[in-house]
Amino acid sequence: MFKWVIKRYRRRPQRGKSKRERELFVLHKEKARALVLSLIAQENLLYQCKIKKVAIRNQSTRWGSCSAKGNLNFNFKIIFLPPALARYIVVHELCHLKEFNHGKDFWKLVSLACPDFLLEREELRRISPLLTDQIEERKLKENERIV
Ligand SMILES: [Zn+2]
Repeated sequence: MFKWVIKRYRRRPQRGKSKRERELFVLHKEKARALVLSLIAQENLLYQCKIKKVAIRNQSTRWGSCSAKGNLNFNFKIIFLPPALARYIVVHELCHLKEFNHGKDFWKLVSLACPDFLLEREELRRISPLLTDQIEERKLKENERIV
């Protein structure tokens, strides 16, 4: 029984991640960080947000997230996206540092840097099954929150 507990405990953090995906993460994490940091530097000229920490993660269902403390997290797979979408994700998270919700004021802020955000949002919804390595098993739900 003890053995079984250890095994389960060890497996948890990597649940749903294939060996290939873990290798991809190690390989691309720093490139993703460089891209994200340069996009933040560029877009924050407009937004002037206070940012605490930027982390690059291997998340299964999100492109990005943020905390009220000013920490931003991004999925390393952001480097595989077309530049306009990577930029939109960074703008989206920066705007959450000012508006911690998806209300009208939030989208107004996003539109300052991304006037075509509706198109970008739609494109991301279409692309996001690529976040998992089980594309064929996963169907994208209509209103799924991905950013
Ligand atoms: Zn959001």
